Amino acid sequence: MIHRIKELEALASQLEPTPRDRKAVRKEVVDYTETFLNTIDKAKAFVHSADKGIALLDSPIAETPIAIDKALELLRVNVDTPGLNPASGGHLGYIPGGGIYYSALGDYLADITNRYAGYYFAGPGAVRLENMLINWIAGVVGYPAGAAGNLSSGGSIANLTAIVTAREAKQVKAREVEKGVIYLTVHAHHCISKAIRIAGLGESVIRHVPIDVQHRMSTEALKTQIAADLEAGLRPWLVIATAGTTDTGAIDPLAEIGQIAQTNNLWYHIDAAYGGFFLLTPEGKSKLGGISASDSVVLDPHKGLFLPYGLGLVLIKKKEDLQRAHQFSASYLQDAKDTYEDEPSPADLSPELTKHFRGLRLWLPLKLHGLKPFRAALEEKMLLAKYFHQEIQKLGFETGPEPELSVVTYRYLPKSKKALSLEEINQFNERLVHEIQADGRIFISSTVLEGKFTIRFACLSFRTHIKTVDLLLRLLKEKAKALQKAL
Ligand SMILES: *Cc1c(COP(=O)(O)O)cnc(C)c1O
Repeated sequence: MIHRIKELEALASQLEPTPRDRKAVRKEVVDYTETFLNTIDKAKAFVHSADKGIALLDSPIAETPIAIDKALELLRVNVDTPGLNPASGGHLGYIPGGGIYYSALGDYLADITNRYAGYYFAGPGAVRLENMLINWIAGVVGYPAGAAGNLSSGGSIANLTAIVTAREAKQVKAREVEKGVIYLTVHAHHCISKAIRIAGLGESVIRHVPIDVQHRMSTEALKTQIAADLEAGLRPWLVIATAGTTDTGAIDPLAEIGQIAQTNNLWYHIDAAYGGFFLLTPEGKSKLGGISASDSVVLDPHKGLFLPYGLGLVLIKKKEDLQRAHQFSASYLQDAKDTYEDEPSPADLSPELTKHFRGLRLWLPLKLHGLKPFRAALEEKMLLAKYFHQEIQKLGFETGPEPELSVVTYRYLPKSKKALSLEEINQFNERLVHEIQADGRIFISSTVLEGKFTIRFACLSFRTHIKTVDLLLRLLKEKAKALQKAL
């Protein structure tokens, strides 16, 4: 037996590379990332590829190792080339963010030291660090002391956590789900509908409250609907507003909805996954006034703080509500179960037990940069959106309203001797998007608003600057002209 143990030890020890091996592999990895970053300005934002990296499968998981240069080459060709390049400043579709560098180093540190950020008992420093970040953002939102939160993998999970917390706080039992009413607009992110179903609330009465011309929830309609639902013997219990919709960047009237929620004893959730961090700018702060009236709110640092993918945040105004929905215990955890009032443990406030120490990827860049450049980048994005909104009109495009934050909606109205149908105009704009994507220097995405194919300008990457916007304007002008000619 001892012989076999020794034999296995020799093999297993390969999992601990020697300092020299570490250095060699690290150098290759760092060189790769340096090349990536040093050429990011010239890299395409979208790469069409016929095979979509299928050659990755030619190198199956096997007993034998491959060298780092081979591994990186597999990644370069098959993973880091085809499709969308979210790190590019030319990514102006969906909701970008970019991926700031020091975050990667934060992940590196978290992964090497592997501190346990689940329970305060095991990782007091790690838990304290995450709570410090949560408390800072709670302060930015304007929540009072006594709020709590959780760093999640993204906005979808954060919204799910909020909805489960609301369900428990309002004591919506399974047998009462059908009578419960949830209010939101058609512009709520689809992850909300997903969360409602995952939370066992799929059979609730879902009211899509009418919206105004700027795609914001109509508070008059909300009031009327709640009154009608009460009259009908239903049980209104949850209203969900969006602070910066994904489609158009619209901000629901946050303060007024808060009033209505309070009067009617509804849980008030705000999805600010996209818009929330604009609170760090003076204009954003005034536009998002009323956000602190909510019972829960979601923000996405991997959008508004430009982090690489993998960080969302849910805040709950009353810590007890979050705790009641998520705290459990088990005998094998008895040593870790001391509770510390001032430093709640993520494991008591979320579905996770063992978790990535994801706070470090936010803490390190905030400490190394300070807040100033974050505020500047956010204000810059808002101004770039205003600039784009103004310039695109000069090119014969029809636009949505002046941007609230950093999303602009627009479409081209082709000139033609005969009147074009809505379908023809839609097809024209769809082709225009395809043309831009085929060029690849800029990536844009689209949506449908009132049946109209609508192009979106979504500006939130820290790498997007005015020269990127000017390039997009030039491309749109050229491509629209060429398509117009071919009509
Ligand atoms: C992006 C987004 C989400 C989803 O967040 P993920 O981080 O992609 O899971 C939810 N709501 C809004 C408004 C968003 O923009």
